[in-house]
Amino acid sequence: MKTTAIVLSAGRGTRMNSDVAKQYLPLKGRPVLFYCMDIFQKSFIDEIILVCAKEDIEYCKEEIVDKYGFSKVSQIVPGGKERYNSVFNGLCAISDVSRKASEESYVFIHDGARPFVDMDMLERVLDEVKVHKACITGVPVKDTIKVSDADGFVCDTPNRSSLYQVQTPQVFEYKLIKDAYKEVLDKEQELREKGVSITDDAMIVEAVSDIKVKIVEGSYRNIKITTPEDMIVAASFIG
Ligand code: C5P
Repeated sequence: MKTTAIVLSAGRGTRMNSDVAKQYLPLKGRPVLFYCMDIFQKSFIDEIILVCAKEDIEYCKEEIVDKYGFSKVSQIVPGGKERYNSVFNGLCAISDVSRKASEESYVFIHDGARPFVDMDMLERVLDEVKVHKACITGVPVKDTIKVSDADGFVCDTPNRSSLYQVQTPQVFEYKLIKDAYKEVLDKEQELREKGVSITDDAMIVEAVSDIKVKIVEGSYRNIKITTPEDMIVAASFIG
């Protein structure tokens, strides 16, 4: 079995209102990105592919990978315009040849802006992906969720008990996710014209495969740093 983590760090994070991308902001003295990298480094994961903006490759190599000794990082590759472009670049960095040699191969796709992925979660999702081929982490929503129309009026209230807030890691059999991404990205222009926005990896599998995506328990701590107050919450988790 071979496991690869693709860690996404190529977003600019405009909702943070900061000149520095959120994944590099200091959190208790270390960049946000450090924390998830540290978990992957210490876990069963065999290889980490770090995806960052082209202009940040040198910074990531020196200030993250070398500085903290993340020896599992095999490549640092440039990201793309949208999150899904960055994921595809990461997937393409995993060579087909090496994958063919190993029968079972799983890819853990993770947002670098989520510092609080933990070992138990990684173990849980690995156990489940061996059975279900496509798994995402998530937690039941706590709030009631409304669907709004274009004018800001409520048009639907889905049953809360069936709603999940979805997180990363999202984990897939390598060939399944690579082929699904290839197929969807071939139709990228068409999707853009239709206004479809791809916000997670499971959507890619849902779009082109019959495989059902399993939701595995994530954690309420596994927040994605997005707006300034998230940094305060995150600092309180580190203690
Ligand atoms: O923008 P959002 O918060 O959804 O981004 C989730 C993760 O995807 C972040 O870690 C961000 O750095 C990454 N990302 C990326 N390439 C993009 C956009 C986002 O790697 N083009």
